[in-house]
Amino acid sequence: MGVADFFKNVGTSIGKTVGKTADKIDDAVDVQKIKYKISKKQDEITYLQTELGKKMLAVYAETGEADIASIEKTYSEICRIKEEIEALNAVKAEKRGDKICPGCSAVISKDDEYCSKCGMKVACETKSEGQEQGASSENGNSQGDGTYRCGDDKTE
Ligand SMILES: [Zn+2]
Repeated sequence: MGVADFFKNVGTSIGKTVGKTADKIDDAVDVQKIKYKISKKQDEITYLQTELGKKMLAVYAETGEADIASIEKTYSEICRIKEEIEALNAVKAEKRGDKICPGCSAVISKDDEYCSKCGMKVACETKSEGQEQGASSENGNSQGDGTYRCGDDKTE
C-alpha cells in the first residue's frame, strides 16, 4: 500500500516536471522551427536572385536590352520575403527574450545596451536606478593629519 502511494506520488511529481520542461522545449522547438523557416526564406531570396541573373543574361543575349520588368517583379518579391523574415525574427527574438534594434531591426541580446550592428543605444527596461550617491562619504575628508590645503572650500 505504502509503496504504491510512494510510486503514485513520484509519478505525479515527475508528471509536473515534465510538464514544465515541455513548455521550455516547446519554445526551443519553436525557435528552431523559426530559424529553419528563416533559412528557407533566405534560400528563396538567393534562388530568386540567381534565376533573375540567368534570365537577365538570356534576355540580354537575345535582345541586347535589360529586362527591367523582371527586375521589378523579382525585387518586389524579395522585399516581401524580407518582410516575412523580419516578422519571423521578431517572433524568434520574443521567444528567446531578445530585443529588436529600433534603428536597424537587428536582433540584440537582452543584456546588450547598444546595437552591435548600428551602434544605436537600445533602451534597457530592466535597468535599475543604481547610481551611487556620494553624499554619505562627503565628510570623510575632514579626518586625517589636520593640515589645511589652500583652495579648499571654506565654510563659515
Ligand atoms: Zn541597430
